[in-house]
Amino acid sequence: MARIVLKFGGTSVGDTHRIKNVARKVKAEVDRGNEVAVVVSAMSGATNQLVTWVNEIAPLHDAREYDVVVATGEQVTIGLLALALQQLGVKARSWMSWQIPITTDSAYARARIQGIETTEMAASMTAGEVPIVPGFQGVSPEGRITTLGRGGSDTSAVALAAALKADRCDIYTDVDGVYTTDPRIVEKARKIDHVTYEEMLEMASQGSKVLQTRSVELAMNHHVRVQVLSSFDEALGSDLPGTLVVDEEEIMAQGLEKSVVSGIAFAKDEAKITVTRVPDRPGVAAAIFGPLAEANINVDMIVQNVSIDGSSTDTTFTVPRADLARAVERLDKAKAELKFAEAKADINVAKISVIGVGMRSHAGVALKMFETLAAKGINIQVISTSEIKVSVLVAAEYTELAVRALHTAYELDAA
Ligand code: ADP
Ligand code: ASP
Ligand code: MG
Repeated sequence: MARIVLKFGGTSVGDTHRIKNVARKVKAEVDRGNEVAVVVSAMSGATNQLVTWVNEIAPLHDAREYDVVVATGEQVTIGLLALALQQLGVKARSWMSWQIPITTDSAYARARIQGIETTEMAASMTAGEVPIVPGFQGVSPEGRITTLGRGGSDTSAVALAAALKADRCDIYTDVDGVYTTDPRIVEKARKIDHVTYEEMLEMASQGSKVLQTRSVELAMNHHVRVQVLSSFDEALGSDLPGTLVVDEEEIMAQGLEKSVVSGIAFAKDEAKITVTRVPDRPGVAAAIFGPLAEANINVDMIVQNVSIDGSSTDTTFTVPRADLARAVERLDKAKAELKFAEAKADINVAKISVIGVGMRSHAGVALKMFETLAAKGINIQVISTSEIKVSVLVAAEYTELAVRALHTAYELDAA
């Protein structure tokens, strides 16, 4: 007998027919004698609709009320799934996050889980009941509802698996695993059988939304075995050949083959800001990025040119597109003190990243990227690297072309 957490994403619970299908999958795991807890997302499109309504009323809104609204999508699906399971004769009940409770910090709309009280839930599981838990939400120290950032149900599932000391966390979605790149964009994308936590973390944080970044971080830190699989496949549970996210040692121990580059990610949700004619003296970078950090805005890629005459320089960086207006507002406020000429914003950008642990031991990965893009006439605006990743910023219209060309260049295309 194993203890497993199953997570079903938005498309998997997109209508009542699909919820019944999910109930059958959950029942199959119960029938195998497993102890099962389930995490669900809102129906696909539901959260987007809720966000739209909030923005129609108040574009610059109180995040606490935003959370009250957008957390409702998951309340619908936990109740419906509990009912669908009861219809199949499976004992099941829904738990709202405040009933468990799943506690978070007070960073509304982007909260982090701080703890999950599992005593009561574990007891109900041992007694043969399936708990159905809403993804994406928690409760703050002030006792108010919080949400974990878009795609946060993955994180809820991994956190619950860690808290319950589950043997596995199965993430059911609308593709049958993690691919070398988004299979909806590149037809020749190949399914990866095993991926390391580190690579998955880079892929997720660089835009592969198949798993929320924070969920991979948690899985890595708590050694949760994560499996990504399709809820639309007829086969059931562990019979499905999904993608396993595991330690690098496990991959090495099994002698599994790894290519230098494992995957290509892209993100169109960043914006570029160029601050022009910044005085070139110590402390200026801190003065630019200080106000952004204070406003909780994450800066990603950064380039600063050498000043030609030693007096002023341009600084270019990227921020999440959703934070662009606030970032520009903050910079404009600091303009008098910083004495720069202008803060120019550009949303017509995409970040493309090649990722692989093999980069540690192989040279020339970045060069191949630059040559491949040059051959397609694609201009690189900003570059950033880590030990296992190279990212470039290009004009958004080249995204698909760049990703396809790189996928071929690194020999990732499916046969
Ligand atoms: P869910 O609602 O189940 O959480 P998401 O839409 O969040 O599903 O994530 C699944 C989607 O992630 C897929 O439909 C696919 O388009 C996208 N995706 C992006 N990059 C990848 C990748 N490398 N491998 C698999 N899917 C990817
Ligand atoms: N329903 C939330 C969202 O759409 C959480 C999730 O699906 O993971 O972002
Ligand atoms: Mg998701």
